[in-house]
Amino acid sequence: MRCGKVRLLFPLSSSSGNHDMTITRRSFLSASAAVALTPALGARALAAPLPREADIVVIGAGAAGIAAARRIVAQNRKVIVVEASGQVGGRCLTDSATFEVPFDRGARWIHNPDTNPMVRLARAAGLDIHTAPAGQKVRIGRRNARAGETEEFLAALVRANRAIDDASRGKIDVSCASALPKDLGDWAGTAEFVLGANFAGKDLKDISVIDKVRAQDRIAALACRQGLGTLIAKLAEGLPVSLSTPASRINWGSRDVTVDTSGGKITARAAVITVSSNVLAEGNIKFDSPIPKRYIDAAAKLSLGSYDRIALQLPGNPLGLSRDDIIIEQSTSTRTALLFANMGGSSLCSIDVAGSFGSDLAAQGERAMVAFAVEWLGKLFGSDAAAAVKKSSATRWNAAPYVLGAMSSAAPGSQPSRKILTDPIGCMFFAGEATHETLWGTVDGAWESGERAAEAALRRIGALRDTEPASSPAPVRRRRRVAPIRPAGPTGFFN
Ligand SMILES: Cc1cc2nc3c(=O)[nH]c(=O)nc-3n(C[C@H](O)[C@H](O)[C@H](O)COP(=O)(O)OP(=O)(O)OC[C@H]3O[C@@H](n4cnc5c(N)ncnc54)[C@H](O)[C@@H]3O)c2cc1C
Repeated sequence: MRCGKVRLLFPLSSSSGNHDMTITRRSFLSASAAVALTPALGARALAAPLPREADIVVIGAGAAGIAAARRIVAQNRKVIVVEASGQVGGRCLTDSATFEVPFDRGARWIHNPDTNPMVRLARAAGLDIHTAPAGQKVRIGRRNARAGETEEFLAALVRANRAIDDASRGKIDVSCASALPKDLGDWAGTAEFVLGANFAGKDLKDISVIDKVRAQDRIAALACRQGLGTLIAKLAEGLPVSLSTPASRINWGSRDVTVDTSGGKITARAAVITVSSNVLAEGNIKFDSPIPKRYIDAAAKLSLGSYDRIALQLPGNPLGLSRDDIIIEQSTSTRTALLFANMGGSSLCSIDVAGSFGSDLAAQGERAMVAFAVEWLGKLFGSDAAAAVKKSSATRWNAAPYVLGAMSSAAPGSQPSRKILTDPIGCMFFAGEATHETLWGTVDGAWESGERAAEAALRRIGALRDTEPASSPAPVRRRRRVAPIRPAGPTGFFN
């Protein structure tokens, strides 16, 4: 079967016996998600008492918050960043201590390198950027898929994407699941995993067709050798970031804004709020006076999906895989995962779980997650992976108190919620990945949203003159229409 219009992100390998075949087109596997603790902190916690005043206060030191702070500093205005957790980076978190190579517990891939600002920023910060893995395989039981089977799978993905595209042009916004062709046969479960859980951390029944189709293609091409968490921490160096300082209440009724934090009150002329949609919807930050209900509703409709990484150190290559191999399986259900093996030539492998299955598994705790990973690898490779595990670690983003999930996606009928969150409320401006119309669920989307909100705040306080209205959303990058397949980043094959 031919699927000549498929544009894959990486070459997809398939093999029969000893004859590995690499399909010479770019594979659909985009990045998948992972989590990490970044012990290597780039930003200094403020040693001095928390400043009481700033031109603009930024809440949250993830990608959006750091981008916003850098933009404000570039305009020679005084900023304070308050961060609830003990480190910079938010969902960009690199664990550089546990394993022999840095392990990105959150974002891992830099998509679309031609337009992604993180590439330039990483190079300017002196970090190493390298190309993402060059081959992915589909496993059917204990063997690799043959070329013809891989073609069938790709054709199934093309048809599924096309059906979602078609449905997005309908009168009402429906779920991606309702648009799927019913005859995907043996590939239905795998297509559901790749397009849903692995792309956005949610099952397709919970994702709006319009939101999915508006998402820019995520071509995972690059990664940062030191980790994306390390990158955000580096970019925060020199910024006034106060760690372990949760904001609890914001008073925005008067000309200024006052933020109550565990370190005291901060008064500023504007605030940029970058907390995740789940943190906002949970009401973890109180507002005096209350903000319009449509904002909280919008955040709830852009809830975070579930995406976690189970890291296993497997010395001696018991799976018999190559450096940076990426594997998915033909699965009859969503109880499946994505394997990224022998990272950077090390013995570290990550098994990514997502969607409702990943969420249920993560709720059972790290031990259950590791047990699943070992069982799953055993099923696919027949090796005694359990005996080989030297060290393990699993992320549990849903339980991370200041994030509460992985990445946002709109519920069916709720895509307009993204625009609602970009509207300012008085002197408050929301940012974060959930506020980006096309790059939601990505680091670059978060970064652009932070810059957009900072510029709007700067205009509000008269520090930036521009003919653009203050609330104008970040420039929407043109979505490439060449590929019906959109692998996801923590979301695609890669998140
Ligand atoms: C497992 C996983 C894999 C991923 N993979 C990729 C990938 O490969 N490529 C990609 O581009 N993207 C990926 N993503 C998505 C990407 O990580 C996010 O889109 C991006 O990092 C979000 O940044 P943000 O600044 O919007 O939010 P966050 O990173 O959540 O930052 C918000 C910050 O606010 C802080 N905060 C919360 N409450 C308070 C409070 N009350 N007071 C003060 N501070 C507070 C939080 O601690 C946090 O640091 C992945 C995400 C996950 C979870």
